[in-house]
Amino acid sequence: MNIKMILTSSDTLKPKPADALKIPFGTVFTDHMFSMEYLNGQWNGASIHPYRDLSLNPAALCLHYGQGIFEGLKAYRRGGRTLLFRPERNFVRLNESASRMVMPEVDTDFALSALKQLLKVERDWVPDVQGSSLYIRPTMIGTEARLGVKPSDEYLFYIILSPVGPYFKEGFSPVKIFLSTEHVRAVRGGVGAAKTMGNYAAGLLAGTKAAEVGYSQVLWMDALDHKYLEEVGTMNIFVKFDDELVTPPLSGSILAGITRDSVLTLTKDMGLNVVERQISIDEVIEGIASGKVTEMFGCGTAAIIAPVGSLWYKNNSYTVSDGNTGELTQHLFDELTGIQSGEREDPYGWVVEVD
Ligand SMILES: *Cc1c(COP(=O)(O)O)cnc(C)c1O
Repeated sequence: MNIKMILTSSDTLKPKPADALKIPFGTVFTDHMFSMEYLNGQWNGASIHPYRDLSLNPAALCLHYGQGIFEGLKAYRRGGRTLLFRPERNFVRLNESASRMVMPEVDTDFALSALKQLLKVERDWVPDVQGSSLYIRPTMIGTEARLGVKPSDEYLFYIILSPVGPYFKEGFSPVKIFLSTEHVRAVRGGVGAAKTMGNYAAGLLAGTKAAEVGYSQVLWMDALDHKYLEEVGTMNIFVKFDDELVTPPLSGSILAGITRDSVLTLTKDMGLNVVERQISIDEVIEGIASGKVTEMFGCGTAAIIAPVGSLWYKNNSYTVSDGNTGELTQHLFDELTGIQSGEREDPYGWVVEVD
């Protein structure tokens, strides 16, 4: 499919932010976006055009029944090159989310080439300062105007871009994580493994409870036993018990993070004892008390690696790694950000250059 190019005239371009590190995450958008529409069983009208509001019928199915999915990845600009990190995995996962939500798939090669073309147009928007990047948000929504509950016959797929600094305003310093005992995020058989809109709305209330006690992120427990760790709002979770590094298995209610997969690969190749198994909250609390839990971190595209400095559970606060960043956590942050920005060797072929 041909991509039509409709570019803004140079005198109407937006001013670029002076310092991407200071922008609150996801609040500034670039001059252009990509979009295409799905109608009569096929994608049409692919175009790169000025960033603009959408026009939707108020009865559009996504607005009522949540048929919407998205992805999140980043572009880095270093030494004049624009780099993407494992971008094909994001489009494969978009299609997995689409299949769960009864939405049409996109051609992954086409979507990636559309993204690359958009990035070429917006190359000056990719921040080149360490700690900053251009966050990429591919999105698909059901747009058919109909109030009956059914899969939409019409869809819009678009990609928008946002220059960002660190995800947490604290930057790379330990985050405080609130264990929710009252609410759950997802249940096996549900949509927890899909990057779909409703999952995040479902998490907002627990987020406000966390904020009430001064905590920034929610750590979810499994929905059946309320006992096993699942993941954080937008991150997968790892716990280091002595020499064993553990993350919960992809049981169907957890998002299969690309950062999680990268951490598993890196740590296995470092020769660490890495295990995907259930982690009970009792094991974590006891391990913190006995000193067996030496490090804990979250990982995801937005924050990359986020050390966990303290845990709130049943009205008690527990300090992890003395509230500092653990050695392995720091190493993984340096290694991943190094590979992503092209500063460190990439033995896995993860980095894709936009030429
Ligand atoms: C996006 C996301 C992650 C992290 O996935 P990455 O591919 O590493 O960015 C983890 N959990 C949830 C709920 C997410 O939405």
